[in-house]
Amino acid sequence: MGEWNREGIPHKGWKCIDVIDLAEYSEPGGEIPYEQCEMCGNEKIRFAHVMKHPKLPDEFHVGCICAEKMTEDYVNPRRCENELRNRASRRRNFNKVQWRYNPEKETYSKKYKGEYITIMKSRYENWGVFFAGQRIWDFERHKIRTFEEAENIAFYIFEKYHTTREEREY
Ligand SMILES: [Zn+2]
Repeated sequence: MGEWNREGIPHKGWKCIDVIDLAEYSEPGGEIPYEQCEMCGNEKIRFAHVMKHPKLPDEFHVGCICAEKMTEDYVNPRRCENELRNRASRRRNFNKVQWRYNPEKETYSKKYKGEYITIMKSRYENWGVFFAGQRIWDFERHKIRTFEEAENIAFYIFEKYHTTREEREY
């Protein structure tokens, strides 16, 4: 059972600080960089629960079952995975709608769920995302360097916009 039996490794009192979908940047049907659960050694973890304990300096990446035991929370670890799984399928749907290139304006646009999203290059070779009246030239204080990055940010912004709008509606 790996680390579960090792002395000095606490079984309880852990906090989950993040959950990572390791398939997030994989192509559909492509290779997923699975991880191994650092607590029980279970292989092929798609969702890495990043665990932190106040007495240990290192973070542990573990699977759902170990995350449940370590936090004594049998609801939220699974819920986090489901949310990520749903986001991944929303992302696939988002990607299904192709960008249309406008050679005159040199922009890439798509209409998704009634919203127009545009990506374009700046004079300085960085990328920008235009959405809902916003012009985003940097993201979390970083310049957008590639088309792929701009695409990720477009999806992120679209998601945020849609969630806040849905929250207002209910
Ligand atoms: Zn495990």
